[in-house]
Amino acid sequence: MKTKKILLPDQMIPAQWYNIVADMPQKPLPPLDPRTRRPVTAEQMNCIFAEELVRQEFSTERFIDIPDEVRDLYRIWRCTPLVRAYALERALDTPAKIYFKNESVSPAGSHKPNTALPQAYYNAKQGIKHLTTETGGGQWGSAIALASQYFGLDLKVFMVKVSYEQKPYRKLLMNTWGAEVIPSPSTLTDAGRRALADDPDCSGNLGLAISEAVETAVQHPDDTRYCLGSVLNHVLLHQTVIGEEALVQMEMAGDEPDVVIGCFGGGSNFAGIGFPFLRRNLREGARTRIVAVEPASCPKLTRGTFQYDFGDVAGMTPMLPMYTLGHNFQPADIHAGGLRYHGAGSIVSQLLRDGLIEAQAVPQLETFRAGLLFARTEGIVPAPESTHAIAAAVREALRAKEEGASKTILFNLSGHGMIDLYAYEQYFADKLQDYTVTDAELRRTIDQLDRIIK
Ligand SMILES: *Cc1c(COP(=O)(O)O)cnc(C)c1O
Repeated sequence: MKTKKILLPDQMIPAQWYNIVADMPQKPLPPLDPRTRRPVTAEQMNCIFAEELVRQEFSTERFIDIPDEVRDLYRIWRCTPLVRAYALERALDTPAKIYFKNESVSPAGSHKPNTALPQAYYNAKQGIKHLTTETGGGQWGSAIALASQYFGLDLKVFMVKVSYEQKPYRKLLMNTWGAEVIPSPSTLTDAGRRALADDPDCSGNLGLAISEAVETAVQHPDDTRYCLGSVLNHVLLHQTVIGEEALVQMEMAGDEPDVVIGCFGGGSNFAGIGFPFLRRNLREGARTRIVAVEPASCPKLTRGTFQYDFGDVAGMTPMLPMYTLGHNFQPADIHAGGLRYHGAGSIVSQLLRDGLIEAQAVPQLETFRAGLLFARTEGIVPAPESTHAIAAAVREALRAKEEGASKTILFNLSGHGMIDLYAYEQYFADKLQDYTVTDAELRRTIDQLDRIIK
């Protein structure tokens, strides 16, 4: 009798992350120092981020080893399931096959621990004792709280005040994992005190929270660093565990995706699922479509311009080459809080510019309809961010039905929505709406940016 070789889930965790910069025909432009307009040096970045993360940020090596300490912790929930969504296919009556990679099974409920763990690990290894970060809705804050706890680091999270008051559960999750959560603006920093002096009732925003977290880190250079959950090259790099696993799993399923889909905030889960498949396009002549899906109310990829912009509202961070709506763009208050960022990371922006990936925008109500259909067929309640990927997958499946064509679709389920049920309550009560952004509105923040840059 032949014995079948069975792989245990944790044996499928890749040994290396994939750095797509090695295979890009046009490399991303460098980040610039806002004062000198010269490329930022690694030394400048080392005051803010752990040295190994800065090395990875500038690396052009194709593969980077995942440290054993990080791989051992990935084993708690990785490899994540690749699931064929039979019930969703039946409900759509489509000839298409739909697969999803389920990143919602991590302890924090999203893909974000994939990068939080290595970020905490490299900081701890360098002897750093304290981390600072910001969070909007709390997805990133809870992921880095979990990771800081594992590596014995003390963590301060500046949480946008309005979210701090409206979303108590993610704050409690962060407290559960040992983090100190501070509503921003706070009186702990100059940036916070200035904002409070201007407006004592200021409810905060992500840009201000970033300024507070960075300021706190740079004031304690010997033992404190800052960390970020999206946009930057090293964050995208760590997320490629998703796509590397999916490549092997699709092969085990005996299928090939024609299209790979991820929702898009700063680009990390999209890059995570997409880049390993894009490698086959770039190096092996494969022709898989790689599709990023953004909210119609924050359409930087489909309607933004490609130029240098700041990462934050205060203009403190290095300038990055990005598809952007201008850092002063105030997106509507949609429930997919993780997708409300004004710009896209520089790697993803370059790939889009070169026509190597695609982008789509989906309005809010369509995303909730798709999310609800998914919850009622596959059972998992998706995060409002992830419903954007589901909506795009549904569009693809319905098009296959119209055309009577077979098609294989793979999307990333970036997180579950069990802590976002309030958004579903609003949807059930008919209180959600679509927001359209006029060209004049977009022109205004881009013109403002043009004036600042020149
Ligand atoms: C943060 C978040 C996103 C958006 O971030 P990306 O870096 O674009 O992936 C998407 N989905 C979930 C569940 C998130 O928590």
